Amino acid sequence: MDLTFTESERAFREELAAWLAANPPGPEPVGQEEAHFGWRREWQRRLYEGGWAAVHWPAQYGGRGASVVESAIFFEELGRAGAPLPANVLGLLLAGPTIMLWGSEEQKERYLAPILSGQEIWCQGFSEPDAGSDLAAVKTRAVAEADGWRISGQKVWTSIAQHAKWCMLLARTDAQAAKHRGLTYFLLDMEQEGVTVRPLRQITGESEFNELFLDGAFVASENVLGGEGNGWKVALTTLMNERAGLAFFLQVRMRQLLEALIEQARRRERLDDPLLVDRLVGLHMRCEALRLTAYRGLTAIEKYGQPGPEGSLTKWMWSQTNQELCQLAVEVLGAQALREGAPWAYELLRSRGNTIEGGTTEILKNIVAERVLGLPKAR
Ligand SMILES: Cc1cc2nc3c(=O)[nH]c(=O)nc-3n(C[C@H](O)[C@H](O)[C@H](O)COP(=O)(O)OP(=O)(O)OC[C@H]3O[C@@H](n4cnc5c(N)ncnc54)[C@H](O)[C@@H]3O)c2cc1C
Repeated sequence: MDLTFTESERAFREELAAWLAANPPGPEPVGQEEAHFGWRREWQRRLYEGGWAAVHWPAQYGGRGASVVESAIFFEELGRAGAPLPANVLGLLLAGPTIMLWGSEEQKERYLAPILSGQEIWCQGFSEPDAGSDLAAVKTRAVAEADGWRISGQKVWTSIAQHAKWCMLLARTDAQAAKHRGLTYFLLDMEQEGVTVRPLRQITGESEFNELFLDGAFVASENVLGGEGNGWKVALTTLMNERAGLAFFLQVRMRQLLEALIEQARRRERLDDPLLVDRLVGLHMRCEALRLTAYRGLTAIEKYGQPGPEGSLTKWMWSQTNQELCQLAVEVLGAQALREGAPWAYELLRSRGNTIEGGTTEILKNIVAERVLGLPKAR
């Protein structure tokens, strides 16, 4: 891949960087979850008003029709500016593109605009207590009624469900069909009886994700996405977008953390310790390899119109490197890094989930083994 940016890509970066410099997100509320989410909501509102909420969406839906490279530049610059991800990140990156591909004209008309403006927040109801890596094993049942479906079951790990108006829900509509065939993708209204959200307290102290209980919740027929029994294919669209979108934001944030760690080591006069420097250099090289692999992944998107297995490789590399970096920070800073409320303590504790969310490392390794290295299938 040619990593030289074209004139229009450079102009895109400059325009965005200038906008971000003129519109900083304001101070981040620390330790108050509601206020923090409100801050991200406000940030999305401002991105929306500036025309930056979803650069990768086609212009007809309010985006900028940005190329994959421009979209990568967008996330790099957002990370570089220290800005947060917009509140409706699951709507912008997952629900929106899935609706654009599979939705009817009425669905596009109804759902896309409030996703873009952040008026309606979305969550992703895929995982269940016994269906995570093996997602096709979902047991949540949808039973047909005259004008829709009644849904019962339990989802878990449902991020930001406590703020969500809508849920991308995968449920079983045909218990007799083969595992992958009996699924349907629903757009579930979270504001109804029969939907209960119970926040889960994480190791960081936050409740980023939730249990979601469905007890006869109703979805009207027009809120099936992609047709009855077609849920697995529709869900794959969502999952592919999940792994592709954030790589650039995450790699920039990790580079910033590494630079902060090197600065801490310098202040403590530790940079003459060859063992420490060796580990820092190793992390530096992996950050750089990650950046280049993420750009290489764009070639697959440009060529085939969808992300290739490089997305799995970058997710695996990023999660492992981020965990090692946070661990090293604790070794450099000592007990001070583990004080309650210390930024490094948060980074260390939050990084534990990196090797689980968006596909566990073992699953990603299986994908890389099969699709990059051509090794025999695990099963
Ligand atoms: C921070 C965070 C946010 C999340 N947000 C959401 C969300 O918004 N919506 C949502 O639907 N889900 C969400 N998830 C759930 C996430 O997608 C699942 O946790 C993940 O897919 C793993 O599923 P599981 O937890 O059921 O683990 P399991 O699939 O039960 O895996 C347990 C262990 O077995 C290993 N394993 C499983 N199968 C294989 C195999 N075939 N080969 C080798 N090893 C294997 C796994 O790697 C893991 O180590 C979130 C998770 C986290 C951590």
